[in-house]
Amino acid sequence: MVNNYHTHTYRCKHAIGQDEDYVKCAIKAGIRQLGFSDHTPWHYDSPFQPTMRMDENQLEEYVNSIRYLKEKYKDQIDILIGLECEYFEKYIPWLKTIIEQYQIDYIILGNHYFQSDETHIYFGSYLNKQYLTSYVDHCIKAIDSGLYSYIAHPDLAYYDSKDPFYKKEMSRLCQYAKLHDMPLEFNLLGFTTGRHYPNEDFWNIASQYHNKAIIGFDAHSPDSLLDKSVYNRALRYLSSLNVEIIDKIKMP
Ligand SMILES: [Zn+2]
Ligand SMILES: [Zn+2]
Repeated sequence: MVNNYHTHTYRCKHAIGQDEDYVKCAIKAGIRQLGFSDHTPWHYDSPFQPTMRMDENQLEEYVNSIRYLKEKYKDQIDILIGLECEYFEKYIPWLKTIIEQYQIDYIILGNHYFQSDETHIYFGSYLNKQYLTSYVDHCIKAIDSGLYSYIAHPDLAYYDSKDPFYKKEMSRLCQYAKLHDMPLEFNLLGFTTGRHYPNEDFWNIASQYHNKAIIGFDAHSPDSLLDKSVYNRALRYLSSLNVEIIDKIKMP
């Protein structure tokens, strides 16, 4: 196994284990570069309290913890400090300031919500046409921002994947990602837990556009990093497609 850039911590309230346990499991799994990318906090302009991400006041401690482990294990593994971030347009200026302030190495796009989670419109629930289009529009704006190193679970948008409208919109996404050299993640968490993603129809579209594909564990527990067989299964599947498999991200 090589690199993994999609790793959570307990701070997001739905992952388990100590940060150091993720590092130990990654070393055991033979991972060379491990990126932590826990669900980012946002600085809301409403009293909204999210339940699936770290609190804003945990960010500093998160960064310090990963930085400490990076130094402690530097002879065994290369650790990066990242975040999984939505594209919340009105809060992007804030996001840029924290990337700068905390010297975040990279961020990945987890396009979970329409506009912001304050709307409660989750792209992973069954969507109408308008929201499927919005999902792709958010991804395209995120690509244009130049902030993100890859798109996590690009097939999170939930829609009938046999419908021509799905094909049209996802083709728009894959074509744009190809044009701007933006890798798409094959998400192992969805793969092992039987979620609606990774979606075969989506990956056939990505194959047509020869997109870059990167495998991400989306680890929410340390031991999930040890599952070599699921990684190899994903690798075999991707190898059967016309995608370009990569294992290292470019950092802005
Ligand atoms: Zn999560
Ligand atoms: Zn994630």
